[in-house]
Amino acid sequence: MRPRILVLGTGGTIAGTARSRTGKAYAAGEVALETMLDAVRALGLEAELIPRTIAAIGSQDIGWTEWDALHAAIAEAEDDPSFAGIIVTHGTDTAEETAFLLDLTLPAGKPVVLVGAMRPSDAVGSDGMRNFANAVRLAGDPESAGRGVLVVMADTVFAAADVRKAATANIDAFRGYPRGPLARVTPATLDWFAPAHRIGRPARYAWPEALPRVAILTAGAGMDAKPVEALLGIGCKGLVLAGMGQGNAPRVVIEALAKAAANGVPVVRSARVDEGMVDRNVEVDDDATGLVAARALGPAKARILLMVLIANGVTDAARIQEAFDGR
Ligand code: ASP
Repeated sequence: MRPRILVLGTGGTIAGTARSRTGKAYAAGEVALETMLDAVRALGLEAELIPRTIAAIGSQDIGWTEWDALHAAIAEAEDDPSFAGIIVTHGTDTAEETAFLLDLTLPAGKPVVLVGAMRPSDAVGSDGMRNFANAVRLAGDPESAGRGVLVVMADTVFAAADVRKAATANIDAFRGYPRGPLARVTPATLDWFAPAHRIGRPARYAWPEALPRVAILTAGAGMDAKPVEALLGIGCKGLVLAGMGQGNAPRVVIEALAKAAANGVPVVRSARVDEGMVDRNVEVDDDATGLVAARALGPAKARILLMVLIANGVTDAARIQEAFDGR
């Protein structure tokens, strides 16, 4: 039987048009989901695709409204036995944030696959149809279940907790850390490198009523503590440091962050460096300052996890650290 797949459209470059096959400028989210699905159906894939438009935006504009609608639609489809899997079409700029947020708050049930494109739909060498066909292959395969939310780009499958956009323009712009790709996929083949490890696990965190304001502060040489004060002044409920090296910042900034932590605003130290672990008590004394080390999560994902934790009432540094240790 052909798998029935719910396709939730949000926009992005995969639905973008340039009106020039070779130009650089384009607008995201312009092609209607139905039009995209007609093109995918014309590929003759073994799947029934059911469209539902959530938004038609560039993912730089995604936020609570779209996330809330996506979460509700996926949770409903998880409970609907007629659906084998779910695809979310999404811009690539914030794919890692949406994927990780959904991953933290959904059970590890049916396949949930985020797919985007680096080139607009009418560009020469556009990657959108290929990525979409791969997403259909993934979402329709029972082997994809129990792995959490997946992101597929350039014939490569990543887990939401690992994936990040690592290049501004190449079609293989995505990387995984600490795990690299989980699988290679083509419209005709799917090769996993490890078994599913979360089969049947419930959602790790409840879907909240709202997400708190949490900001990322990028450290720079010679900066002072004023930006920390400014962020606290606008009511941030948590802060993520995108620090130098292993999550470092000038002494005055660490002191201001320690003061914020002591005043009940949780602070997570991540790295502005492209990749790598941020461990506790290496150069910054987390035990003394009350800060949390982001471990394998980069700033964008650290912010998502911190927002989810605070929204679920977890504000104690030790418990936040446990969550970052466990991802
Ligand atoms: N700005 C676009 C977006 O994230 C880029 C893309 O989709 O590749 O929606």
